[in-house]
Amino acid sequence: MKAIVIEGPRSLALVDKPVPVPGPGEVLVRVKYCGICGSDLHAYETGFLQPGLTIGHEFSGTIAALGTKVDGWRAGDYVTGNNIIACGRCRYCLRGEDNLCLEMRRLGITDQGSMAEYVLVPAKDLVRLPDQRSLATAALAEPLSVGLHAVNRAVLDHKQPVLIIGAGTIGLVILAVLKHRGAGSVYVAEPNQFRRETASKMGAEKVLDPLEVNLDREVENLTENRGMSLVFDCAGHAETIAQACSLGAAGSMVVVPSICYQPVTLNFLSLVTREVKINTAFGKTGREFREAVDMITGGRMDLSPLVTAIISPAETEKAFRETGSGNIKTLVLFHDEVD
Ligand SMILES: [Zn+2]
Ligand SMILES: [Zn+2]
Repeated sequence: MKAIVIEGPRSLALVDKPVPVPGPGEVLVRVKYCGICGSDLHAYETGFLQPGLTIGHEFSGTIAALGTKVDGWRAGDYVTGNNIIACGRCRYCLRGEDNLCLEMRRLGITDQGSMAEYVLVPAKDLVRLPDQRSLATAALAEPLSVGLHAVNRAVLDHKQPVLIIGAGTIGLVILAVLKHRGAGSVYVAEPNQFRRETASKMGAEKVLDPLEVNLDREVENLTENRGMSLVFDCAGHAETIAQACSLGAAGSMVVVPSICYQPVTLNFLSLVTREVKINTAFGKTGREFREAVDMITGGRMDLSPLVTAIISPAETEKAFRETGSGNIKTLVLFHDEVD
């Protein structure tokens, strides 16, 4: 089978691998779509993964084969799956915080990923899709569930202003979830014009270009000097996280679902004297993943504006090399015939 593997820093290859055989409790999924995630791009930039590992974790497809001890699934079923493989036994799993599992495995990081024609997934982590029409957007269930988790980590007051810094996939799905939950004024700061336009289409009250305007002053104007009540940093830079912490009103909350690889310098005196709460958000729980799939397949969440390109496996290496912030979500199409 074709698979996209990491070979080292900025080195990716399309290789041929044997199709894996499902073990007990496992299912072999024939991948139709696999999204390229920011974490895949980071793995590409740094090459921090085991050389030869297949990357990718945002997939949808059909069941090709079942291992033993798998009930309730048949070959041909349409599925997506949670990339976080939790143990189900540790103290975090037992209280529903499986995104913090002590024995967590992750597709495309610890285990062979889904940017391939086939991927092995534990049957317990699969979620059923109603039909093949939902396959493309179901590949966005993973980032949507990350957005859901970030919003669940926040305290949302529908009347108060919210700011999202960064309108990549996660910023935009957070916008979609906030609008879905009835949030009033959601502002988005993003330097890329196409992403700003997408945020506008998806219901942002106003989009701001942080390279053109002074964000601190804009926030003062928009909130009559009060500051935002909730700020999400989805850009993942030390500067934007520090800025997110400074743009909130007294008593506000900052939620950071972004992954920042640098240390962040914060003015703690300012945070303490304004009682700004900082909540981090990591991944999502299995329950949130299922809810994200439901939102997409139930037609409650249209994420199609996020899919900016569908490419072939042969084009993937180039897509990683030339990635620009104008793209939002690129899907790699592994099987394009009608199922
Ligand atoms: Zn992802
Ligand atoms: Zn666990």
